[in-house]
Parts: sequence; structure tokens; C-alpha cells
Amino acid sequence: MSTRAAFDSSAAGVMTDLAFVECELLGAARARGRAQAPARGQAQAKPGQPRQATAAAGRRREVVVGGRRVKTIDVHAHCVIPEAYALLGLKVDDHRGPGIGEVGPRRIREMDAQGIDMEALSINPAWYRAERDLVTQVIKIQNERLAEFCGKYPDRFVAFASVALQFPDLAVQQLEEGVKRLGLRGAAVGASVAGDEFSDPKFHPFWAKAEELGVLIFIHPQSTPDLAKRFKGNGWLANTIGNPLDTTIALSHLIFEGTLDRFPRLKICSAHGGGYLPSYAPRSDNSLRVAPDMDTGIKLKKKPTEYLKTMYYDTLVFTSEALRHLAAEVGVSQLVIGTDHPIPWQDKSIDHILKAPGFSDADRRAMLGETAAKLLKIKL
Ligand SMILES: [Zn+2]
Repeated sequence: MSTRAAFDSSAAGVMTDLAFVECELLGAARARGRAQAPARGQAQAKPGQPRQATAAAGRRREVVVGGRRVKTIDVHAHCVIPEAYALLGLKVDDHRGPGIGEVGPRRIREMDAQGIDMEALSINPAWYRAERDLVTQVIKIQNERLAEFCGKYPDRFVAFASVALQFPDLAVQQLEEGVKRLGLRGAAVGASVAGDEFSDPKFHPFWAKAEELGVLIFIHPQSTPDLAKRFKGNGWLANTIGNPLDTTIALSHLIFEGTLDRFPRLKICSAHGGGYLPSYAPRSDNSLRVAPDMDTGIKLKKKPTEYLKTMYYDTLVFTSEALRHLAAEVGVSQLVIGTDHPIPWQDKSIDHILKAPGFSDADRRAMLGETAAKLLKIKL
């Protein structure tokens, strides 16, 4: 639908009902329409909010499903803080993702073009092998900067705290401080910590704190370093399959080692649709039947596949069929948008959800933003 056709510029000036599930409006027309159409006032722009939060140049795509504007929320959006990166001896330019070191007008323009209203920012942990003093400093800078971005653009960004999980006691403090003092909405973690699995009991205090605070833990893999030799060659396999495999291993341990039984209210969201686990989930229900000698004696409260339905996943799975299958395995209520922005894996995350057959309007609204809003405590 064209921009101008969607906008009724008659004296009443109200938005026309849209036959389609979405529309795109010029920024100026949007501002005018909102001022004249209070019924649509649930969108992001509110009088008095920082100008830069809503006035990014260019088109802002607004997503409407079943006649209702949906606040779209992306849980998988990367950034890095150059100052903290430098402390780790890393360069922003070496990181994939144009503009990854910026949280400002450029990023907002790209979000506007994609129809993403809010990003939950995260920083991939590159510090799990750093010394305690150094990592303390790195995390402090990162979490304070993340909080600044969220304060500057409150209608566009929330953020996950960075935590130094190699020192679980420190990570507990950083999570608590990040959430309570800085207003961050959870923590972003890798899929293991310098070779140690998340199911290791030394991490229990961290999961307990996340559960107590009721915040979301976003798992983003970092390849599967043990397989580096086998990943050599064409195809960027360290990422292409190394990343989803890393998540698959992490979630499998959390399930089979009983960590999710121990922390039943823990909220976990995994990137890339949970890696390969949801694609082949029922195998996990049969392995110990086939090989009872491999049972270490941990008594799980549920079948392995049932735990999958208690966790959350982003929708970065590319095709309608992959999305349908993911929803069938884990439940549509567990899915939230993940774009990987600004790493250009997917710039059609909204269309991916709008166009996939078989979902109701309510399902689409849930995936586009309503579920993420609940998890991240974002007001709709
Ligand atoms: Zn990513």
C-alpha cells in the first residue's frame, strides 16, 4: 500500500482503515496523523519525548495487524561500545555489522525502514577469558553506556546487561545492579563460558538471581570453538552451523542436567530460533530409552521436549516453513522477533511474520511485539 493512499488527508484527518495488515507512512504524515487521531496514540511518539527519539529522517514503517498498530520489538540486536572494546584489545572495525558501534540516528533510520519500533540491545560477550579487574571495568562501562542509550531514546531501546559470567559472584552483582540501578531488562550471555557449560553448578547463583529478579536471559552463541578445525574451509561454518550448534548444546545441557527443573521460573530466550534443537527435538525424548547406560541418574520432571515449550526463541529462521515448524515445536507464544541488526542476516523480519501462512492476527501480534513487551517489561 502506498504511503499516500494510506493516509486520509480530508478535513477529519483520521487514518483510513487499512485493508492490509501493514502500512508505511512518511514521517511527517505520521506525526500529523497521530496528532489528529488519538485512537492511534499507542504508537511510540509521545509529546515531550526527546526529539531524536522520533524524528529520524526518512520513512518509518508502522506495522498494523487486524487494524491494530503493533509495537514491534526486536530482541536480537547487537551493538558494541568502542571504549570497552578497546580495553579488551578489540577493534570495532573488526566486528561484522555496519554501524555496530553506533546507537543513534543511523540505527534508528534502519529500524524505521524495517518497521522495528524497539530494539533490546545486547553486546556479545568477548570478555569471558578476561581478568577480574579488567572485566569489572569493561562491564561497568558497557552497562552504563547501554543505560545512557536507553535514557536518550526511551521509546526505541531497552538493553540487556553485560555480565562477567566467568566470575559468577560478580555476574550476580552486575545483573542486580544493571536491573535495579540502571533499568536494564535482563542479561545477554553466550552459550557457554570459556569452555564451561551453563549447567555447571557454579552458575546456579546467577540463574537464581535472574529468576528472583524475573528478568530475561538472552542466549547468543559464539560458535563452537572446540570444532574450529572442522569448520575450516568454505561456507563460514564456524558461524553458519557453529552458532546454532553452540545454542543447541547449551540448551540440551540446561535440560538434561536438570538446571531448568532447579530454576523453573527462569526466563531464557535463545537466538536463531534456538539453534538446531527445535528442529530435531523428539530425539531428545528417546535417547536415554535407547541408551539407559548413559543416564547419570538425574531425574527430570518432564520430557526433554516439554522444557522447550517453557523457553523463548527469536524468529530468525528465514522461511515460513521454518517458522511454522518452530511454532509447532515450542508454541507460538514463545516466539519473539530477532533481526541480528546491524549484522545483515535478515532485513525482512516483519514480513517474515506477516506473510507466513497459518497464524492468526493474535499470533502475529504476539510474535511481533506483545510477548517481548511482557518479557522485557515494555509498556505498550
Ligand atoms: Zn546475533
